[in-house]
Amino acid sequence: MKYCTSCLMPETRPRITFDEQGVCSACTWAQEKRESIDWNERWALLESLCDAQRSSRGFDCIVPVSGGKDSSYVAYMMKHRMRMHPLCVTIRPGLALPIGEKNVLNFIESGYDHIEITPDPRVTRTINKIGFVEAGRPLLGWMTAVQTAIFRVSVQFKIPLIMFGEEGETEYGGTKKLRHQHYYDAEDSVQIYLSGHDPQKYRSLFSEKELYWLTYPSAEDMRDVGVSAAHWSYFENWDPYEHYLVAKDKCGLQEHSERSSGTYNNFAQTDTSLYNLHVYLMYLKFGFGRCTQDVGIDIRRGAMSRKQGLALVRKLDREDPEIYIPQYLDYFGMKRDEFDAVLDRHVNKALFRKVGARWEPTFEPR
Ligand SMILES: [Zn+2]
Repeated sequence: MKYCTSCLMPETRPRITFDEQGVCSACTWAQEKRESIDWNERWALLESLCDAQRSSRGFDCIVPVSGGKDSSYVAYMMKHRMRMHPLCVTIRPGLALPIGEKNVLNFIESGYDHIEITPDPRVTRTINKIGFVEAGRPLLGWMTAVQTAIFRVSVQFKIPLIMFGEEGETEYGGTKKLRHQHYYDAEDSVQIYLSGHDPQKYRSLFSEKELYWLTYPSAEDMRDVGVSAAHWSYFENWDPYEHYLVAKDKCGLQEHSERSSGTYNNFAQTDTSLYNLHVYLMYLKFGFGRCTQDVGIDIRRGAMSRKQGLALVRKLDREDPEIYIPQYLDYFGMKRDEFDAVLDRHVNKALFRKVGARWEPTFEPR
């Protein structure tokens, strides 16, 4: 496998590109952010967008929040720096972790108007299971709702501006489409964030009403309200560690007492145990896991050398979420052999071979 010469992202990451020096799109973007992005100009744009949206009505913008460091930071900045009145919205995940729930409550207590949306768990679970079995994406239902239900709230409450956190494709090495574009639309939402899984396809399983939170509003309704979905990372140089410090200081963020499985930190993506399965499947499908992602972030912010990152990746990327497997079996209504068969189906056989009951990598990150 070919690896980025700056971080450790491999060529198997969907939509990644490399330059002539073998540097991945996340790292070239990190350089572009340091050298050629005019952050003052982008900040001025943010101020003008906020000025245009500040209203005498109830809410000035929507901030989707998970209780995690990044969304808490964005909500904090929108409220206290931009002087906006945000409606914060959480989409309840399946298999929520206690630490994640506690952090949502701590965040609200720090002074925010908040609503939580729980799409019918039966519907979300079914879509998560379809995602798991057919595409190796056990969070597909929830990830869909994080897009669709937020667009629904925008239309329902007539709050046009939605401020998400980071544009993950730009920041972590995917498509470059949104590097220089501050709004994205429902078409981008399906193609980029749902990897083309248009939720309309579940109409064969559920009624239009049952799928309310899991489908987009009509194009006409979105146009009437002027739905404008943006990412904070367009306007300010995205720095997850800085967000962690602010969220801890201002929004009551607490860490997991132990590091998360598959990585070395304890303060990122702690809202649902399904995330641990999501990243383990990413490892089996593409040969890079949660640790590679986190190491990339730390290398790009200058807090870790590639050599240090390599040692961590070799050790931690392969960790499976074994402790959560009983929860997964219960959630999906599966027996262990059925569950393992799904993993077997999605594992990249060019990268792994089965030794006993485990899939062992035949490659070594370098
Ligand atoms: Zn890279």
